[in-house]
Amino acid sequence: MNQKLNCPKQKGSSFFLYLLLGLASIYFQACKSSATMPSDTAITAEGTADDLLDPTTFWAEEETPPYQPSATRTMDIVHMDLDLRFDWKVQQVLGTARLKMTPFFSPQKTVVLDAKDFEFESVYLLQGEKKELLSYRYDEKQLTLYFPNEVNPKDTLTVEVSYTAFPERNSGEGSAAITDTKGLYFIDPLDTLPSKATMLWTQGETEHNSKWFPTLDRPNERFTHSISLTVPDTMVSISNGRLVRQEPKENGMRTDYWEMNLPHAPYLVAIAVGNFGKVESSYKNIPLAYYVEKGYEPGAAKVFERTPQMMAYFESLLKTPFPWPKYDQIVVRDYVSGAMENTTASIFMEELLLDEREALDSEWDYIVAHELFHQWFGDLVTAESWSNLTLNEAFANYSEYLWTAHQEGQDDAAMKLITEMEGYFSEAESKQVDLIRFNYADAEDMFDAHSYNKGGVVLHMLRRHLGDEAFFKGLTLYLNTHAFGSVEAHDLRLALEKVSGQDLNWFFNQWFFDKGHPELDIEVDYSQPENILVTLTQVQDTYEGPVFQLPIPLSWYQEGERFTRTFLMSEVTQQLALENQVPIEQLYIDEGQEFLAKKSQSFTSAQYLRQYKESQLGIARYEALDSLVSRSASEELKEILPLAMKDTFWSIRERALRVLQSDISWKDSLPELEEQVFALGDQDTKNEVKAAAIDVLTEWNPDAYQNAFQRWVRHPSYLVAGAALMGLAYGKDPAMPLDYMVSFEKETNYRMRVPLAEYYLMNKVKGKGAWFDSALKSMEGVGLYYFMGYYTSYFSEFPEEGKAEAVTFLLGLLRSHSKDYVRLGAFQSLLSFTEEPGVLESLEKASEVEKSEDLKNYFSYFLEMFDEEN
Ligand SMILES: [Zn+2]
Repeated sequence: MNQKLNCPKQKGSSFFLYLLLGLASIYFQACKSSATMPSDTAITAEGTADDLLDPTTFWAEEETPPYQPSATRTMDIVHMDLDLRFDWKVQQVLGTARLKMTPFFSPQKTVVLDAKDFEFESVYLLQGEKKELLSYRYDEKQLTLYFPNEVNPKDTLTVEVSYTAFPERNSGEGSAAITDTKGLYFIDPLDTLPSKATMLWTQGETEHNSKWFPTLDRPNERFTHSISLTVPDTMVSISNGRLVRQEPKENGMRTDYWEMNLPHAPYLVAIAVGNFGKVESSYKNIPLAYYVEKGYEPGAAKVFERTPQMMAYFESLLKTPFPWPKYDQIVVRDYVSGAMENTTASIFMEELLLDEREALDSEWDYIVAHELFHQWFGDLVTAESWSNLTLNEAFANYSEYLWTAHQEGQDDAAMKLITEMEGYFSEAESKQVDLIRFNYADAEDMFDAHSYNKGGVVLHMLRRHLGDEAFFKGLTLYLNTHAFGSVEAHDLRLALEKVSGQDLNWFFNQWFFDKGHPELDIEVDYSQPENILVTLTQVQDTYEGPVFQLPIPLSWYQEGERFTRTFLMSEVTQQLALENQVPIEQLYIDEGQEFLAKKSQSFTSAQYLRQYKESQLGIARYEALDSLVSRSASEELKEILPLAMKDTFWSIRERALRVLQSDISWKDSLPELEEQVFALGDQDTKNEVKAAAIDVLTEWNPDAYQNAFQRWVRHPSYLVAGAALMGLAYGKDPAMPLDYMVSFEKETNYRMRVPLAEYYLMNKVKGKGAWFDSALKSMEGVGLYYFMGYYTSYFSEFPEEGKAEAVTFLLGLLRSHSKDYVRLGAFQSLLSFTEEPGVLESLEKASEVEKSEDLKNYFSYFLEMFDEEN
């Protein structure tokens, strides 16, 4: 699974970045402050304003969560036949499941199936032609079947269960509005929302498929299956395996027969039904299809374009063919996560629903790679329990790095790795746990930056330690040994040990079975340049976590040539004598930033300047620039910025431009750069860089570039065109004529709508209420989030144009939008309208029923502040 975005990510940022960062940092601070409350203030007799945190929750979290063993296997499902029909009106699933089962090891008299919120019509034991009623017991979550006789492990039996499933019921979870455990989701089932397509889709991970078929819902089970789906003839169905047959039925219905003849785990079973368009492709003899809402096929062809190349690349790395008979990728609405690796049928969130032009700036390769890699790691070889989840997610996460390195090059990949590390470090501030952990409160807790980010980086370090050949050969052995089976971390260790001949217990013990990360104090003594001394100290808490054994890569440059050496660190404090003989002026420790450690070393600005100038690694040059920016080293920056704008690594060019944009004084201190900025806007090969350059020109001197902006606004990339339109909006002398700007009202992408909104607001253009209104109502996701602030400003400025309706609409978003960050945006917006009668009360009510804990804390924090002020 790929986690959903909690807050929108911004790439090739622009003016709107500030808006986002403002919101996001307040958001995260608010959330963090509640999570890191010191313990001595946690319990007070009366809840004061400090007590965002419920003290009982605080102490409960201190206790060790329960031990979660792998599921005991008593019965094994061998095959499932499933017939499904759907009552769209009442959102129910009408099903018949025939389960062929056998005892796993010892004779059995019963089986306990997971079946959440079902009603049963009949339960039979099938014996040839004969059907015998079975006695059963049901408690809303599990169905216990009593066999007439004890069944021996050599025997199989088939039961037939006819049922109605109610995905909308939540008997197991009380009355709380839990939205991501339905298993099966009907979207706009009665087709009442013009902006939404009617469809249904499923999300099984972790144990939610037993909301729509009875099964042994745990990852160490696996079976083959046939699924027949009776759907309206106008709709398309997709499921695992192959579509083998379609039969027309009465009343405009049709039955599709899907066959999955290779075994896989129950949580990977999936269906999707809707009025989808289909883009076909292939890799070798494997059919590929991308399913999206009709009209988006050209965009999907681009978003998923590189799937065949990815398959070829992953096959070549893993020396293991793609294991399944076909691969479909489906984009759905209102998805509860980022994406899910259902075997042969990955499902993605609607952020991947792009038109052809939007797809030019698509940044979704990483998620496509992630789900694809899962088809080997997760689907073919499956973590035996959620405690071992990283065996699925570390690999999927690392595939994003692998693909980036292959497709975009080493600099981009290094940047990706840093982003992953930062994700982990940020979580590690409040949570440090073992990667493999058998104690957790809820299986969903395993889907964190440990299982994903840290896991991926740990695999990278393992690869660097073993070398590419041993690492990938080990993976091949692991996949072949455990194909169609369940694994735990030792299976991976043993495969890598077998291939490499090395003991790897030390590596697995510290990285998989222990917590934390090294925090290194680094001192480099240059007093004898021909024998440099490096003193390293691990300053992390070695009572709670391990003293790490670490390979320390050292590097330096002599006359443009790069030299490297690696030392092994295994003690708390260690001194390395480099015995370099030829004098070294500057030494780098982990120059490529490839290991997971917090490093602290005093580095002067002059040393960073040198690092920028001599390093052959893009990531090290980026680090140098970034460090100088954060310490506002203007003298060094003055020297670096002109070089950075010509750097071969595009992220550095973009970063340099963002520096120029952020502080207008650079215009006076580096006036000669303006020409270079213009050239980047005009000619850079990366649209992100072009857009950043255009933003600088807008900031520095918009009037001088109106002609160029008019040219660039016709660029096919919305990144570029949107930046240019912002430049046009900022023109003052003369301002762009209203007529010209109005001609962009037909644009639907938020990157175009935001500058237009900015123009209307800056120039106080009246009569645009209808445009703001219809624009906001047709937007989704990130675009909706960004646009909401402008919408709010406009109706605050011109209330007569429909403020009351705007407030009503925002309240609707706050109450019912499925995305956290959209509800956050709506809340923020509504804070501007608290003088309106009833708004404050509505905010308080929304805060009470908010289902995200983080948002709830944030809302109540703001409302309390608000109360205090008034
Ligand atoms: Zn995943």
